[in-house]
Amino acid sequence: MSIHRITFVPGDGIGPEISILAKRCIEATGLKVEWEERLAGEEAIRRYNNPLPEDTLSSIRRNKVALKGPITTPVGGGFRSVNVALRQRLDLYICLRPYKSFKGVPSPYRDVDIVVIRENSEDLYAGIEFSISEKSTRRMIEEIEKLSGRRIREDSALSIKPISTFASRRIFRFAFEFAKRNKRRKISAVHKANIMKCTDGLFLECGREISKDYPEIEFEDRIVDNMCMQLIRKPQDYDILVLPNLYGDIISDLCAGLIGGLGMSPGANIGDEIAIFEPTHGSAPKYKGKNRVNPTAIFLSGAMMLRYLNEEEKAQKLEKAVEEVIEEGKVLTYDLGGSSGTKEMAEEIIKKIEERG
Ligand code: NAD
Repeated sequence: MSIHRITFVPGDGIGPEISILAKRCIEATGLKVEWEERLAGEEAIRRYNNPLPEDTLSSIRRNKVALKGPITTPVGGGFRSVNVALRQRLDLYICLRPYKSFKGVPSPYRDVDIVVIRENSEDLYAGIEFSISEKSTRRMIEEIEKLSGRRIREDSALSIKPISTFASRRIFRFAFEFAKRNKRRKISAVHKANIMKCTDGLFLECGREISKDYPEIEFEDRIVDNMCMQLIRKPQDYDILVLPNLYGDIISDLCAGLIGGLGMSPGANIGDEIAIFEPTHGSAPKYKGKNRVNPTAIFLSGAMMLRYLNEEEKAQKLEKAVEEVIEEGKVLTYDLGGSSGTKEMAEEIIKKIEERG
């Protein structure tokens, strides 16, 4: 049996406590694995004065697969998001997030089974911003006014929203291939093309174009505000959602809410050769070190990683153990209506995996 070499990035906030347990959980499935631990986020700043050391990037490039805990991003000022930087520098253009109802999870919704496919490389997340204090902002405003004939207030800041034909086509291509491979029935493109006719209009147009190659898969589109309302009213009507970066981020958390919260929501950032597996949720700093949060999201991200490594049986073993522990309802964290700690719930899941042999 071959040994998998995987980069392990514990992250910060609640990251280290849940990701160490995820490692144990993956090992319990019987995977032959060598972990290469690398830092990013707060600990990397403390040690190297750099939130994303080159050494971390080169380890991921070399091993091609990483398991990652969440990483804090300062709001407003401070360094840019390490999470976004990782996706951009490694060209992990697909953000894949499955949201599936589990029996035993307190939620007003049942039978939700939605896959969010978010374009990860551009849109307002491209990081092309002009602050009010920069000289270049004034020049940019003048240039835009000249070219568009529209007025922009002089005390404005600007964020640029690039949406390209290339990136839109490749995310829809991935989505349709994913649908075909996984026998899914429908793709809904989510946009605001009624207002952003050029950028979101192009995104939608690319979806329509690619859909012609897949007549067996239904294709429709929804305006993002209407999408929010539809998802709250009848999430069972939706199958795969394909979205530009920003709407993808927001709708991801909405979908997490439908299946019991962020503690239940796994994810992956995937490129042509490299993939990083991490939960949808962030570093929840207020719970750091408190043994309170639900480890399920990062465990299920681990199952996605096993599947990516062609270890289907081990992925199923892990998912079944999570399902059983939640359905039994005896050892659950606060968000699932229980009073157990992160470690206790994790141990229960690990025990079940080991029992399966
Ligand atoms: P968050 O996801 O960290 O937490 C929001 C709330 O969700 C928490 O207060 C908690 O109530 C709940 N929650 C999150 N994870 C949970 C879990 N495993 N179990 C139970 N409940 C859970 O979002 P935030 O507070 O907006 O962000 C905190 C930090 O994380 C920010 O710096 C943000 O930039 C960063 N962030 C990182 C990532 C990433 O690493 N990929 C993703 C999102 C946010």
